[in-house]
Amino acid sequence: MRDTNTCPDCGVAPGTRHADGCDVSRCPECGTQALQCGDHTSSGQGIWTGEWPGDLECREWDWWTPFTHPNGTTEMVSDLNRLALAAARGEVRWDKQAERYR
Ligand SMILES: [Zn+2]
Ligand SMILES: [Zn+2]
Repeated sequence: MRDTNTCPDCGVAPGTRHADGCDVSRCPECGTQALQCGDHTSSGQGIWTGEWPGDLECREWDWWTPFTHPNGTTEMVSDLNRLALAAARGEVRWDKQAERYR
């Protein structure tokens, strides 16, 4: 659990667009990490929702994966790999208006 609602990289408040160069920001046009998207450099940054990109989708679709902490405790976290895979396979589609996957 993160203890603050601001973006862990650029520090903006929820509901605000990320700063340029932010690691967390997703391209609003296609949903890939904004830093890695070379196609839509003019569309700017995604909106920071207050949680990690993909957490909302994984919660909605019940996609979880066990994560083991260094101290040996295990908790279920959002399965972001599954989301990335589903996006690559075209099983989920990026919704430009809502800036999330469907
Ligand atoms: Zn950010
Ligand atoms: Zn893009």
